Amino acid sequence: MGEETERFAGNFTQQEPIPEEGIERAVEIMRSGRLHRYNLVGEEEGEVSALEREFAAYMGMDYCLAVASGGYALACALRAVGVQPGDRVLTNAFTLAPVPGAIASVGAVPVFVGVTEGLVIDLDDLEAKSDMADVLMLSHMRGHICDMDRLKVICGVNGIRIIEDCAHTMGARWRGRLSGSDGLVGCFSTQTYKHMNSGEGGLLVTNDAEVAAKAVMLSGSYMLYGRHGAAPGAEVFEAIKYDTPNVSGRMDHLRAAILRPQLKAMPAKCAEWNARYARVEAGLKGTPGLTLVKRPEEEDYVASSFQFLLLDWSDEAIADVIARCLARGVELKWFGGAEPAGFTSRYDSWRYVQAERMPASDRVLRGILDMRLPLTFSLEDCDTLARIIRAEVGAVFQRA
Ligand SMILES: *Cc1c(COP(=O)(O)O)cnc(C)c1O
Repeated sequence: MGEETERFAGNFTQQEPIPEEGIERAVEIMRSGRLHRYNLVGEEEGEVSALEREFAAYMGMDYCLAVASGGYALACALRAVGVQPGDRVLTNAFTLAPVPGAIASVGAVPVFVGVTEGLVIDLDDLEAKSDMADVLMLSHMRGHICDMDRLKVICGVNGIRIIEDCAHTMGARWRGRLSGSDGLVGCFSTQTYKHMNSGEGGLLVTNDAEVAAKAVMLSGSYMLYGRHGAAPGAEVFEAIKYDTPNVSGRMDHLRAAILRPQLKAMPAKCAEWNARYARVEAGLKGTPGLTLVKRPEEEDYVASSFQFLLLDWSDEAIADVIARCLARGVELKWFGGAEPAGFTSRYDSWRYVQAERMPASDRVLRGILDMRLPLTFSLEDCDTLARIIRAEVGAVFQRA
């Protein structure tokens, strides 16, 4: 086969299998019939509490709560920090629908902050909007981390509390600090396409005892909070337990059992993702018309997906690149597409929010192309992906 007809045969939605240890434990739990997190025998810890304890230790944080999904963790964090209906919450214009959705779910109003060519929150825009809200739901979208030092100064000066959406930054760091440990609350997803896979699931971490206790009560602990693996002492619960509603959204033992071995393997997996990212990046370097995303020195990313920009290209030319790549087996997602499709959508497609236009951000969003890099792809697969994208971007660019 000539190079111009090379096709990619990998499957972009194929994740690795669950580790055998997790499968065996899950089968044992199913045989026992005890799946609910509080369905324990005697003083047994249970898988969910064990996962909370282990994830808190991994993060170096005091408290951890396992919940039903990443989106649930975000909404739970908003409630736990006291966001009320009608309150405004700052958040990224470039993010995934469950982020503004979590804000809307508590009756609050998202205020979008722009995106830079580095695909992170525009800190100048954040500064300009810093008097509009006292909570920022910061989404480290697709694993890109903004200057967390400057962000913390802006938020500190303006009394803005930070809830971090770390759906794509589990294991990543800014200047050595784990993503999710800089804000008041860090929220993670363990949905299939994230860094650990339990089908659905979420984790929330904080060092604030009152926020942690409220989150535990909110998640549906009834009065069984004493059975948690990484929760504050009973006296903290005494102060809030009558006033905190049960907004049921617990994790179960099955999910926790398959996550625990994945947590142990996480650092090694992060390195595997980054090796794949580096191969795609090297293969695309210098492609005319294609802008690679510059990653800051201070950022230790975990690149489970790859983004590049076709800045100032026409919609037709971008659509053509996507179609040509797809014909050769390469699935690119376009965040700038006018209609929301699959998992992607733009801030103006969330019509329940009155959003003002952000022309500089619109220019970036229109040009963002995104590709998953599951660990079932080999390094050679990544070379192939880069070759195909390079050829098709080149063909369309030359013609234009
Ligand atoms: C997946 C995702 C979420 C939500 O996680 P779920 O577990 O699917 O609810 C939140 N933010 C971002 C950026 C995500 O990609």
